[in-house]
Amino acid sequence: MEKQNTCLEDGEPPDGGLVCGALESKPEKEENPVPRRTIRSASGAMIVPKRANVSGFFMSARTAEFRRRFFKDVSPIEWNDWRWQIRHSITTMGELERMLSLSDDERTALKGDGSAFPLAITPYYASLLDPDNPLQPLRRTVIPVTAEKVRNQGEHEDPLGEEADSPVPGVVHRYPDRVLFLVTDFCSTYCRYCTRSRMVGRQTHRNMKADSWNKAIEYIESNPSIRDVLVSGGDPLTLSDERLEWLLSRLHRIPHVEVVRIGTKAPVVLPQRITPALCRMLRKYHPLWMSIHFTHPQELTEEVERACENLANAGIPLQSQTVLLAGINDNVDTMRRLVHGLVKMRVRPYYLYQCDPIIGSGHFRTSVAKGLEITRGLRGYTSGFAIPMYVIDCPGGGGKVPLTPEYAMGRDGDDILLKNYEGNIYRYFDGKTENREHLSCKGSL
Ligand code: SF4
Repeated sequence: MEKQNTCLEDGEPPDGGLVCGALESKPEKEENPVPRRTIRSASGAMIVPKRANVSGFFMSARTAEFRRRFFKDVSPIEWNDWRWQIRHSITTMGELERMLSLSDDERTALKGDGSAFPLAITPYYASLLDPDNPLQPLRRTVIPVTAEKVRNQGEHEDPLGEEADSPVPGVVHRYPDRVLFLVTDFCSTYCRYCTRSRMVGRQTHRNMKADSWNKAIEYIESNPSIRDVLVSGGDPLTLSDERLEWLLSRLHRIPHVEVVRIGTKAPVVLPQRITPALCRMLRKYHPLWMSIHFTHPQELTEEVERACENLANAGIPLQSQTVLLAGINDNVDTMRRLVHGLVKMRVRPYYLYQCDPIIGSGHFRTSVAKGLEITRGLRGYTSGFAIPMYVIDCPGGGGKVPLTPEYAMGRDGDDILLKNYEGNIYRYFDGKTENREHLSCKGSL
């Protein structure tokens, strides 16, 4: 497809800096004021009237009740404004204690010495947390515990060696034909197991200086082998539409960049971000893909469904990335419910990651056998395209390596021995034997 000339002005990104648009911008003036009333659906969900810069989502009954209880002076329209959500993210122990009962361990971790990975949870995502159960899966992913202070064997600040593969600030160039472009260190909600906790949320990282985007783009322009750019961070969808469009337009006009992907968790923790205006802007920059970070079926709310629907309707192929987390999503039933929910939302399950060994992540990590067990438990019991690829991102910068349970058992003469999802062995006559050696027989059967 020929690229359209959709570029904005050259030079600096709009507004100069690269910090989150929501934090520095004033609330937008309402373009088409509507009466601030709400309507209820038969299920009790709240239907929020549309406003130009607001998503116009349904508000689920649970979230509406949370808003009434803890943000009673906040209108549904403000609640559904993604900028309001970011400005009112929960970042202190005091705010958390107003909404839920902290365990002693959580309280100790939150008191800390100030050096810990920061806390931030959007009010929307906070509405999904169990106020009484510190072991609830979603709660464990966003509220710190003291285990974060423990450095375990094999853990590193930068386990994937991204800094060593960074030719210019903000770019990680590991594979021949693609780069990771880290455009912000800001997220609306911080995951306690974040692979980039060394830089995300710190607001000091060199990659995020105002001129780094131009340098990164120059690097991509000068390397014709780069055909795929993954825009990530931090969360790129915490940038304003204007900054994001400036960035996408720059990438879009580089002739050898064939596809751009956005890596984000915003549709999950900040579904209000997926506004009609954002979707209209994004659809100008096809082929544009999106990788969305999902963790657990409890995240698949009506609000998230709407966000994914709007993105998919804008022609953006959606795929998921999930980190395998001990006690959170490390069982077949949870993973099956997650992938079934995702495909209903037109999100293709893509990667299931072994939890990277960042410092203080030991309590999140499962054995590799557990990941293989889950993969085996999905194969044959759900649609093939709903099964994510289980991968380990090799420590030290080796890249992603897919792991699969052993289905090809070996060779017996001209037959390949195959084990199906029920554990039964079958033979497949493989007369074309030029590559025999890669399936050497693993013993008699
Ligand atoms: S959304 Fe991604 S970048 Fe942000 S804290 Fe979570 S894992 Fe890290």
